[in-house]
Amino acid sequence: MPQAAAASEYDVVVIGAGAGGMTAAAVAATRGLKSIVIEKTPLVGGTTAISGGMVWAPNTTKRSLVGADDTPAQAANYLETVVGTPEGADLRARYLAEAPKAIEYLESHTSVRLTPVPFYPDYYPDVPGATLRGRVLEPVPFDARELGNQSPSLRPPLPEFTLFGGMMVARADIVHFRNVFKSARSALRVARLVAGYGADRMRFHRGTSLVLGNALAGRLVKSLLDLDVPILLGTTVTGLRRDGKAVVGIEVRTASGEAMSIGARLGVVLASGGFSHSDRLRRELLPVEAGDASAAADGNTGDGIDLGKSAGGFVVSSNRNNAFWTPVSRLVRANGESGVYPHTVTDRGKPGMLAVNKAGRRFTNEAESYHEFVQAMFRANRQSAAIPAYLICDRRALWKYGLGAVRPMAWRLESYRRSGYLHEAPTLRALADGLGVDAGNLEATVATYNRDAATGVDTAFGRGSNAYHKYVGDPANLPNPCIHPVVTPPFYAVVLHPADLGTSAGLRTSPAGEVLDGEGQAIPGLYACGNDMNSIMSGSYPGPGITLGPALVFGYLVAMRIAETRDAQRAQWGSEGRPLVRLVSSSAAPPSAP
Ligand SMILES: Cc1cc2nc3c(=O)[nH]c(=O)nc-3n(C[C@H](O)[C@H](O)[C@H](O)COP(=O)(O)OP(=O)(O)OC[C@H]3O[C@@H](n4cnc5c(N)ncnc54)[C@H](O)[C@@H]3O)c2cc1C
Repeated sequence: MPQAAAASEYDVVVIGAGAGGMTAAAVAATRGLKSIVIEKTPLVGGTTAISGGMVWAPNTTKRSLVGADDTPAQAANYLETVVGTPEGADLRARYLAEAPKAIEYLESHTSVRLTPVPFYPDYYPDVPGATLRGRVLEPVPFDARELGNQSPSLRPPLPEFTLFGGMMVARADIVHFRNVFKSARSALRVARLVAGYGADRMRFHRGTSLVLGNALAGRLVKSLLDLDVPILLGTTVTGLRRDGKAVVGIEVRTASGEAMSIGARLGVVLASGGFSHSDRLRRELLPVEAGDASAAADGNTGDGIDLGKSAGGFVVSSNRNNAFWTPVSRLVRANGESGVYPHTVTDRGKPGMLAVNKAGRRFTNEAESYHEFVQAMFRANRQSAAIPAYLICDRRALWKYGLGAVRPMAWRLESYRRSGYLHEAPTLRALADGLGVDAGNLEATVATYNRDAATGVDTAFGRGSNAYHKYVGDPANLPNPCIHPVVTPPFYAVVLHPADLGTSAGLRTSPAGEVLDGEGQAIPGLYACGNDMNSIMSGSYPGPGITLGPALVFGYLVAMRIAETRDAQRAQWGSEGRPLVRLVSSSAAPPSAP
């Protein structure tokens, strides 16, 4: 990664190399602003690099590629019904207006490339204004070789989401892996993919075909390299430099422990990814039942929020949820490190899976979104212990769909059993006893579920009754894509805990991304995007990609606002465009760059 040049003053200083930060820095550079990105960990990409990479962006020109019928009014109507809070209403309106322009700008000025997912329903498909396709974009696969010798600095994807120790599988190819023994076309496709990966491993010691969030992060890094934006890795931003109310730079600590000061002529952008791994902020902002599990990258420790507060920024804590939830199972990887498997779309809604509480009873519709599922855990737990919960299936479903970190068609289960990750028993009663779940109730619950599977109607929770349920189910399973009898021993379970995919509470900003103080006034020189800004969805989760979409769009808007400020200053002070008073009165003025 290009380390920071000698200059200690930039137009724009960005804190955090995730989707929000890298977008802001790249767009700023396209507008002729001298930018730098500071990244605390030794790797670029943050949670973005381990994410699904989906981007929810209504009404881009791409919607026509998948024949989608949508209008700005329809998207606004949908958000009004699903989110509906006054908090962030101005930002949501700006988002809907600017997302198409932002995506177009990124594609024409950087290496970011997105393509519409042919079918991906909004998470509340029966609500007015919802769509089944056209709003969700995914990154076009990216060849890591384009990063040259910088590619090892890109954060790798989650090991649980790769095959053969590092092969990424695109969403569209999952079906080919599932049908590898059934269709000659799928077998050929899989053979090609595996051969390509094998060749990459021999030549480059890793897979080079990146998809999902890793492709998005790779594309953003490539953009920064092309635009000559330095990224300072292993460097933690520890404080903000102020001049009165204005923010004029940052204090950092390098990997070797050296303290440094970097000036920001026009703006500091907080993009450090939220507070998923801050025990203190979790205690302050999340319900106690949420525990400490997070699927987010470990560098997200709330630094941006603390820095913003130190400059007078206001943290919104009144969202419907202050985090975006997902159930996870805890695991220990082969190298001894512990991890979590996010049960987002791979298993819960598939036919032959059901989730129960400690009393052995189902407590919710397993095919709802991960965000809804965890909220149901919280609610159910108030009546009868549902944290942790247990995701249960039989041998048939395990083989077909996998269960958490256990992949479909896994021959060898021994290591999962031995580590305590996968529970297995010859009968449901024995499975329940091993889990400490009420055995009689579990047998009765499964008997009801099996009867419902025959008729195709989930009498308890209506699973399979809407387009989103069906999307996460299996269309080949009829009459209901989401239910199938659980009858083939042995029986299996993994333990589910609540966790977050990222946090939604953050700094209140203007629709241009300026950080606001308690009185609603913009703090000069301070901006936020990504999960450091309070989510525009205010803790609701309307559809896939509702954090990365805003991270890209507000990263773009922040950079555009800073460029406008520069233009205004140029008009006032000439092409130097620098407010001299700020340098004169700054107590620790940095050596100015030429
Ligand atoms: C498994 C998984 C799947 C997901 N899938 C999706 C999806 O498909 N679509 C979607 O919209 N969302 C998804 N999400 C959520 C999404 O990935 C995050 O909300 C998003 O990546 C946050 O972007 P960001 O730029 O705010 O932060 P990040 O990408 O986390 O980047 C922040 C960076 O800042 C760095 N940093 C922190 N503190 C400092 C400091 N003091 N100094 C310097 N650097 C610092 C961090 O190390 C990190 O690299 C998913 C999350 C997970 C875990």
